[in-house]
Amino acid sequence: MKATIAVLAGDGVGQEIVPEAVKLLKAVGERFHHTFEFVEGLVGGQAIDRVGVPLPDETLALAQKSDAVLLGAVGGPKWEGLEYKLRPERALLGLRERLGLFANLRPAKLYPMLADASTLKREVIEGIDLLVVRELTGGIYFGMPKGIEKTAEGERGVNTEVYTTPEITRIAKVAFEAARKRRRKVTSVDKANVLESSELWRRVVSQVHRDYPDVELSHMYVDNCAMQLIRNPRQFDVLVTTNLFGDILSDEAAMLTGSIGMLPSASVGTKTGMYEPIHGSAPDIAGKNLANPIATIASAAMLLAYQLRLDKEADAVEQAIVKTLEQGYRTKDIQGVGTKLVGTKEMGDTILKNLAK
Ligand code: NAD
Repeated sequence: MKATIAVLAGDGVGQEIVPEAVKLLKAVGERFHHTFEFVEGLVGGQAIDRVGVPLPDETLALAQKSDAVLLGAVGGPKWEGLEYKLRPERALLGLRERLGLFANLRPAKLYPMLADASTLKREVIEGIDLLVVRELTGGIYFGMPKGIEKTAEGERGVNTEVYTTPEITRIAKVAFEAARKRRRKVTSVDKANVLESSELWRRVVSQVHRDYPDVELSHMYVDNCAMQLIRNPRQFDVLVTTNLFGDILSDEAAMLTGSIGMLPSASVGTKTGMYEPIHGSAPDIAGKNLANPIATIASAAMLLAYQLRLDKEADAVEQAIVKTLEQGYRTKDIQGVGTKLVGTKEMGDTILKNLAK
């Protein structure tokens, strides 16, 4: 197959981790006889420094023309004083909006050899393998009316949670399709006992479910879900939820498994998807060959599976990561007793070597 991948390394550790993931994708192309073309673009602070805006038109056009975007991270102290609309982080919102990325997928999977890196007990987290599907372009972050207005007593702040049938239908489909590639179990998370928007959410998810009789569906209130994720996270396969609930629950789920340097994500819409680690630009360790590249390499594996439908190839990358961890190689963030400490580049090289085997 032929595919064009837009490579937006961005700021801080993005410049170190993205080349490692590209290296792996090139090797996958060679080993499985695919032609991947990589086109680089400026984004975030790098783009501000060079052309004055966080998301230049050329970068957006490049992303729109590509089959997928591989993104590192944006932001850093250098740009923190800028006015909000010129900040590096605006580039993420711009890409999400312009690429129509309405679903954010975050897997949280525990690599058994890293069980001790979690803050929870081994017996609670062993075997965790779940996927949070978060609606990304609707809900309370975008609903109208919103704003802060003056009142006789002081001020009044308003945000509005809105969901429509088409918005719920498309995100539910993403969740059911994802479940078909996994253990065929979807938990839809809402607050239908209080919110009308959640009542509709629950009804529409149940309707969409009729087309997926091979997938089990259950509904859970968000407060219970927050508790169940800590109490018994193994019960979950795919969780599907709104923008706000997903924002919170996906961070909670992600941290069950240990380091932020291990966790990938995918944002998908109708065409070009965006694949990136969940962490930021880590300015405290940038440029020191300390960053863990696994989250970005695992994001590249998601790109192969979700965007290009290359499941075998994605699996090969996953296996290479597992093998490298089994061999005891660790970056500083996941270092443990008796392990071999390596830097960003050495971790990438070792995974590459294991992919070739
Ligand atoms: P961060 O995720 O960059 O870092 C938090 C902590 O995790 C730091 O101690 C960092 O060293 C560590 N860390 C992060 N990635 C790591 C990796 N791959 N390996 C090892 N350790 C890692 O969050 P922050 O410090 O709050 O934010 C820094 C900048 O990144 C800010 O400008 C923020 O706005 C931006 N940010 C960008 C994104 C994105 O591009 N998607 C996401 C979050 C934050």
